[in-house]
Amino acid sequence: MGRARRLWRELEHGKRVVLIGPPGSGKGTQGARLATAWGIPHIASGAILRRIIATEDSDLARAARVINEGKYIPDAIANAIAFRELSKPEAESGFLLDGYPRDVAQAEALDAFLRQGKRRIDVAVELDIDPDLVVERLAGRLTCPNCGQTYHIRAMPPQKPGFCDRCGSVLTVREDDQPERIRYRFDLYREKSGPLVAFYREQGVLRTVDASVDEDGVFTAIVSAVMGAR
Ligand code: AMP
Repeated sequence: MGRARRLWRELEHGKRVVLIGPPGSGKGTQGARLATAWGIPHIASGAILRRIIATEDSDLARAARVINEGKYIPDAIANAIAFRELSKPEAESGFLLDGYPRDVAQAEALDAFLRQGKRRIDVAVELDIDPDLVVERLAGRLTCPNCGQTYHIRAMPPQKPGFCDRCGSVLTVREDDQPERIRYRFDLYREKSGPLVAFYREQGVLRTVDASVDEDGVFTAIVSAVMGAR
């Protein structure tokens, strides 16, 4: 079967994908590109949390502020946020989860939730990258607190300095993007992601992609990994 035809069949069947990767591995950038290419919702837990913090005055918004220190929010909150998005009709035939699940407890809760609707994760993509490269990428990152789009001060500046190309909001530097917090987040990721990756490997759905190459290269590698997974 030709590549275009195979891709068409993939699109027809939808896709349920989890993106796993340390801070700065490109989850957000790749997640947005992949979701657009496949016509499925991009569910980025971190971006949803930042939007809640920026726009709500609620208990949830207050509880979510721990993310500024680089700490994880409690599993129950992360699960509730993800399940709400996954219950929407547009997520019925496929979705791309970015930053969720982040540990095995969340992955188990996600499996149980999906099972109720006779759904399951088709493929978990692990983005593999060296920590030093990550610190370099994140120092200089600008983030839109409204739509979640990210930029880089040198590598990918917005068209109008300081403003989001997509929604026009004022861009910010994430508090958790300071160098010592990046290290903290990376260590936390290491601790939690080992068992998470093992969980998906045991299910036979794990694919690992080298995330240290350029954006297009990583994108192509993920697409091949996901297409080969079915
Ligand atoms: P990210 O945008 O994926 O780098 O996430 C930013 C921050 O949001 C993380 O450092 C955590 O503090 C929090 N966060 C996002 N997703 C989760 C999750 N699934 N579980 C716990 N905390 C999360």
